[in-house]
Amino acid sequence: MSRVVLRSLVHRITAHPDVPLAYTASCESCSWKAEPSADGEAVDVECMAHSGRSNHRQFTRTVTGRAFVVREGEDPKPPAP
Ligand SMILES: [Zn+2]
Repeated sequence: MSRVVLRSLVHRITAHPDVPLAYTASCESCSWKAEPSADGEAVDVECMAHSGRSNHRQFTRTVTGRAFVVREGEDPKPPAP
């Protein structure tokens, strides 16, 4: 009979330090989309400008970023993709 040894490792997930968050927005009333940006306030200003021109007032906003998993005891540098 073979013996199986199981061990658990502690992991954590963290934001990639070299990849900034990306903010985007799209209008719920038409096909307008804001220019993607690392500056969320700039995207909000674009939405308000679009609203001022069109009276469209609802937007879907997204924020995306990259994260990576680090095992306990490992160097917390991001691994190669
Ligand atoms: Zn619109």
